[in-house]
Amino acid sequence: MSNKGNQQTQLDLIMEYFKKNPKRDIKHPEIVDWVVSEYKRRTGRIFRDPDRGIRRLSQDGKLIKIGKGIYKYDPEFVKNQKFGDFTSAQKEIIFKRDNYRCVICGKGRADGVEIQADHIKPKDLGSESIIENGQTLCAQHNFRKKNYKQTETGKKMFIRLYELAEYKKDNKLKIFCAEVLKVYEKNKVNGHIVWKK
Ligand SMILES: [Zn+2]
Repeated sequence: MSNKGNQQTQLDLIMEYFKKNPKRDIKHPEIVDWVVSEYKRRTGRIFRDPDRGIRRLSQDGKLIKIGKGIYKYDPEFVKNQKFGDFTSAQKEIIFKRDNYRCVICGKGRADGVEIQADHIKPKDLGSESIIENGQTLCAQHNFRKKNYKQTETGKKMFIRLYELAEYKKDNKLKIFCAEVLKVYEKNKVNGHIVWKK
């Protein structure tokens, strides 16, 4: 089994115990003892660092941290959390991973610029608030990302049209599309969508 798959199984096992004991404050030793022996029984292998797994689930909003070494599972909380915003713990991890800088322009707190945690795949497309789906953006790039979906659709369309015009040898249409796409480039709009000339 791959490392990632292994890790997933371990996290599932931790969740299994919490789900069997919903809405109850569970202390660390109780859950650790159970997952370690249960993992050994089921796989014959050793569950390394269950603490890390528990912390991870808490950071991802799947468990609620009640206090030091005490966690709780609440199905209602998870449901609200799933498609909601990142928790402050998650935000801090995302910011730290990205060195407190916008992943597009590199500006950050050190430059006096406000940073925000952005969902790479937007929430309204049904994506989860998990750390892998988060990135640090400055306020300006976050605003742009949220509002430039329309121009993005347009750019993709003009690229497709340009390629079609080239294929059909329609020079007039090709020139028109090229001019529009040059305006995108000149204004540095949707630079992540590459137009191959
Ligand atoms: Zn930026």
